[in-house]
Amino acid sequence: MSENCNQDCGACSQECEDRKEKNEFAIDLHELSNVKKVIGVVSGKGGVGKSLVTSLMAVAMNRCGYKTAILDADITGPSIPKAFGLKKKAISIDGGLIPVASKTGIEIMSINLLLENDTDPVVWRGPLIAGTVKQFWSDVIWKDIDYMFVDLPPGTGDVALTVFQSIPIEGIIVVTSPQELVSMIVEKAAMMANMMNVPILALVENMSYYQCPDCGIRHDIFGTSTIEEIADKHDIDTYSKIPIDTKIATACDKGLIELLNFDFLENVVDKIEK
Ligand code: ADP
Repeated sequence: MSENCNQDCGACSQECEDRKEKNEFAIDLHELSNVKKVIGVVSGKGGVGKSLVTSLMAVAMNRCGYKTAILDADITGPSIPKAFGLKKKAISIDGGLIPVASKTGIEIMSINLLLENDTDPVVWRGPLIAGTVKQFWSDVIWKDIDYMFVDLPPGTGDVALTVFQSIPIEGIIVVTSPQELVSMIVEKAAMMANMMNVPILALVENMSYYQCPDCGIRHDIFGTSTIEEIADKHDIDTYSKIPIDTKIATACDKGLIELLNFDFLENVVDKIEK
């Protein structure tokens, strides 16, 4: 048994002798892989900043000194490689796929690292997409990863379900924007997480406000945030707000997300480290 064992076998990928139960849908990691904690990042719909939050969480944990990885399960809308400016493609060695390391050493696997052209569309049916995500877990050599962030496809469709059933997700971060029907989105995420026995670790409201760089005043462009009440209603003790900022958009567009200075996810980092 590992010295860090908390007896929660469902949330652990280690195949130790003391393992208590095995989920019938769970798939094994590659024999050369070792992943300690897996966190899913979910949203109700596309374009709210789920990939941004996935990327920033990986950057923040990496800055804390943890070996960090991203599994991009958003197969039809992969935006992680672009945010990190990855140019290299993933290669296969020893019966396993090798993730591409970012400039600061974050290990990344995404469909765009396997396609010849980044702009090639993935026009596949659900089971093939779900199968690819499973292979990103089982066929990729994830070496000594402390924290893996899984960028899930938006919504609660079959790929998200496959991820929850086959990968030992320890908890999820729910990303919303103020103009969404936040309560409903969180309600759905909470129900799915509940069904899958996975806790919501934090709520992140992206595009929460705009802070004028000249006068410093905050403007609630999309209306007043209700994130506190929603977090309260669902017993979520950690929430965070990300402003609308052209620096964020530019960093994503230019592949320089690792150079961004930010502290708005600090409490989420603290929560995950606990
Ligand atoms: P999702 O993964 O939910 O589809 P993304 O994280 O890919 O959304 O974000 C969509 C686009 O919006 C990206 O191009 C990103 O640069 C931009 N964006 C996201 N959040 C912000 C923000 N807070 N400020 C400025 N631009 C943002």
